[in-house]
Amino acid sequence: MELQEIEKRARAMMPSLITQLEQLVALPSVAFPGYPSEPVHEMAATTLDMFREVGFTDARLMEVPTGYPPIYAEAPGPTGSPVVLLYAHYDVQPAPPEQGWTSDPWTATHKNGRIYGRGAADDKGGLVAHLGTMRVFDGAPPCTVKLVLEGMEETESNLEAFVGAHPDLFQCDVFVVCDMGNLTVGEPILTTALRGDVACVATVRTLEHPLHSGVFGGAAPDAMMTLARLLSSLHDAEGNVAVAGVSSGEWTGADMSADDFEASADLADGVRLTGTGSIGTRLWSRPSVSAIGIDMTPVATSSNVLIPEARAKISMRIVPGSDPVQELDALVAHLESHTPYGAQLDVQRTKEAPPFRCATDGPGYAAARVALEEAYGKPAAEAGSGGSIPLLRTLQQACPGAEFILWGPEDVAEARIHASDESVDPAEIEKMVVAQSRLLVHLTEGAALR
Ligand SMILES: [Zn+2]
Repeated sequence: MELQEIEKRARAMMPSLITQLEQLVALPSVAFPGYPSEPVHEMAATTLDMFREVGFTDARLMEVPTGYPPIYAEAPGPTGSPVVLLYAHYDVQPAPPEQGWTSDPWTATHKNGRIYGRGAADDKGGLVAHLGTMRVFDGAPPCTVKLVLEGMEETESNLEAFVGAHPDLFQCDVFVVCDMGNLTVGEPILTTALRGDVACVATVRTLEHPLHSGVFGGAAPDAMMTLARLLSSLHDAEGNVAVAGVSSGEWTGADMSADDFEASADLADGVRLTGTGSIGTRLWSRPSVSAIGIDMTPVATSSNVLIPEARAKISMRIVPGSDPVQELDALVAHLESHTPYGAQLDVQRTKEAPPFRCATDGPGYAAARVALEEAYGKPAAEAGSGGSIPLLRTLQQACPGAEFILWGPEDVAEARIHASDESVDPAEIEKMVVAQSRLLVHLTEGAALR
């Protein structure tokens, strides 16, 4: 199908796609423990109906030992045509009022040309882009299209185990993960690198028991200040990670302006950015270290004593191409060699999630580049993502030959995924429908040429 025809169809279907997005946003499909299960099941059932209607006639809820079911479907193309697997997820992050929403998160709200609501972008926007892609071809795509919609992406995912149990369902030539976005609206981006994630819990012990802070303070070390010194040694004065042996590089793809980044990060008044180098380098090709939890006496029950023991959970994002075990080794070695005053240190390793890098030299990636350029009318650039998606590695292991295309309608500058006032620009959804449709066309043509 020609580009113009696809564009015409995508434009014509947008009002009904937006209506469907509004219906989906109205279902609080939070799969986290402790949240009601009915809306998640309703979301799964509604999604299932929508995808059956657009041509995935065999769409079904898959059986899983625990949690919410993934949706699976297959629309067979001509014999011998390439196989594309479309991925998205139907669960969403919670949207507690204390996040500071300015409109009801479960009511799709049109403002400033965007649609606000929890999941409007992540990933119900991606979901309707898949609906639109099937509708472009009236339910009969030019190649075989598989569909996998996960129900627990935002929480303890059950999909990795499901992939392990049913690798046959995941055999394909190209995975299309529509759960990403451009850096800014209208500027097409393929995400090609994702950082990994390692973590440990460091416990510092300085005293056998609490001591009077007046009688002993000044000569006996308290555990919290000792831990604070240890944590501060993880960065240099400019805020760059200062852990010897941790992998680091320079980002050479598309970059984000400091202004766009600051706007999306909502820094408190007067706060400056940390680190040096381009924003892309700081986010995608260098590590970052954060203390994500601290145990010590709470302020409310504090008294004038020196604290004997304090602990912190330390999380480190690691760069594409690095090995999580080696990176965590380096972090632990740093902690062990920088603990001041001879304090006792115990380190428990809690997480070693690998980074991910997309191959960019295959026919699927080339087709995606062309498709994205056609949809946006300008060449596509490459960006990284600071977040981690462990599922990608699992899919890669299940189907080692397949290529990965990571894109979607969640623009980084404004979509505010996981935060208050999440939103999507409907024009990005429309362009993703065009891009995905053209991708199917090019893959089919490419396969015919080979
Ligand atoms: Zn997502």
